[in-house]
Amino acid sequence: MMETEISELETKALDRISAAHSPQELEAVRVEVLGRKGILSHISKDMGKLAPEERARAGKLLNAAKQAIEGAFERRKQEFEKTALNVRLDAEWIDLTLPAPGVRPGSLHPITQIQMEIEDLFVSLGFMVLDGPEVETEFHNFDALNIAPEHPARDAQDTFWLTDGNLLRTHTSPVQVRGMERFPPPLRMIAPGRAFRNESVDASHEHTFYQLEGMMIDRDVSVAHLLYFMKTLLKEIFRREVTVRLRPGFFPFVEPGFELDIQCVICGGSGCPVCKQSGWVELLPCGLVNPNVLRISGLDPEKWNGFAFGLGLTRLVMMRYGIDDIRLLQSGDLRFLQQF
Ligand SMILES: [Zn+2]
Repeated sequence: MMETEISELETKALDRISAAHSPQELEAVRVEVLGRKGILSHISKDMGKLAPEERARAGKLLNAAKQAIEGAFERRKQEFEKTALNVRLDAEWIDLTLPAPGVRPGSLHPITQIQMEIEDLFVSLGFMVLDGPEVETEFHNFDALNIAPEHPARDAQDTFWLTDGNLLRTHTSPVQVRGMERFPPPLRMIAPGRAFRNESVDASHEHTFYQLEGMMIDRDVSVAHLLYFMKTLLKEIFRREVTVRLRPGFFPFVEPGFELDIQCVICGGSGCPVCKQSGWVELLPCGLVNPNVLRISGLDPEKWNGFAFGLGLTRLVMMRYGIDDIRLLQSGDLRFLQQF
């Protein structure tokens, strides 16, 4: 009788184990059947009432049933664990071939790009690239460039004066002076860099901007040389022939001095908002170096002369790319910078 009970229990327990839908359900079966107060231990106690012969047979049977149920329970438990692991692996799967998020290749600022292009061009024409301090002396920024003490450029409204009497250079021209002081003629140099003016900032004015200064000192340098280099430069930058014109301009450090205009590259000279309908855009001041400037830097104007020009890199970048707000260039705005 007990033997039938045991084998029925075994069959039932095995069915319930294989039908369990969750580890919780499985555990409930284990407690109910194999637990300390479970059915098996109950039967085991009841066996004490059996005759010794019958007890031995039933005991064997009970052990076998217990082992079978425990084995089935372990296997089912492992199945649940394996499924849980697979679910987790699927959820946490990482594709190692995908590019890492957040890392993007950088690019050079458009002003740096145009500066490097111009440097390459002038180096190929035999010019040196010079650097100079951004904090300058009054002598290098003004006096040595023949800018008289009463000249409006010295007005405190345009210049950032420092408490020690020095200033933030208002143009890159002092590097010309430092070049002439350091290198004997003949001299061909350019000097790109930052310049500072105490301006209120708006769409076309910045307190910090980029210039590129150029100078050539030799014997018998003429306006024709100046024009040749300027046209070569502009052709390189705009990647096409550019029509230029010279207008007289007054700058203390050149004599004669010119404003060099280019025919508007946007409209081709027919007139547009960029050129204010004139067909021409004022691009750079230039001229033959004033003999006073040569003399102050220790050169004999009877033996040496030269040309100089100052190019606004910031304005050049704006014209090349049609940028209408100067503030974008120093904004650090990636939406703007990623276009270059
Ligand atoms: Zn135009």
